[in-house]
Amino acid sequence: MRKLVAGNWKMNGTLASLAELDAIGAAITGAGGGSAVDVAVAVPATLIAPAAARASFGIGAEDVHSADSGAHTGCISAPMAKEAGAVFSIVGHSERRAGQGETDAEVKAKAEALLRHRMDAILCVGETLDQREAGDAEAVVTAQVRASLPDGAGGDWLAIAYEPIWAIGTGRTATVDDVAAMHAAIRRTLVELLGEEGEGVRILYGGSVTADNAAALLHAPNVDGALVGGASLTAAKFVPIIEAALPQTRAAV
Ligand code: PEP
Repeated sequence: MRKLVAGNWKMNGTLASLAELDAIGAAITGAGGGSAVDVAVAVPATLIAPAAARASFGIGAEDVHSADSGAHTGCISAPMAKEAGAVFSIVGHSERRAGQGETDAEVKAKAEALLRHRMDAILCVGETLDQREAGDAEAVVTAQVRASLPDGAGGDWLAIAYEPIWAIGTGRTATVDDVAAMHAAIRRTLVELLGEEGEGVRILYGGSVTADNAAALLHAPNVDGALVGGASLTAAKFVPIIEAALPQTRAAV
């Protein structure tokens, strides 16, 4: 399966930061116009339009509301993000599940809004450190997948991002064996729920991915890409992660 390396700028970035997107685009196309890896970056809502106007790869939103319009002060909807130039959105990021109290049902409705508007979705799941230490990680994560999987889920528009909460922004990463075991559990759940279609849904790993650990994580079984926070903010840190996702016989993007 073609891998996807997606960035998440979170609440970072101004117009000046868009030069990083130019540098990422130049690195992707530099080796002859086309990459063996899909690249995408989710940016703050304020930057979607200018980023989409100049990026040579997919620009996305970091979140969308499940409704198309209405009395939801401060939110943006899928059609609004799409009109600004977003081709995908992250939904269910743990920072929103924790900070904004988002439930699995809401995350599912947000993903369904993206499908309605023909946008791609990266749907995040992940366990807390307490849940992992209690031995509940797999049960928690597969339950999240079951409860937040949108109707109409399919590999042509949906990716699941497994992001252990304790690994996000902390510099701690899960071991490759733990990631492979969790991705296998997610794959089994997807196949159980979607049949053959579940084989085609990309499962990304997220949580302190860097140039140093990317190759090992990205080539573990059932790891179809990465969702990258901090290291997506600069081309210098992000491009080596994209390169690490290349089929291992290839040397350059
Ligand atoms: C994220 O925000 O989805 C993430 C994985 O962040 P970081 O790479 O900084 O841990």
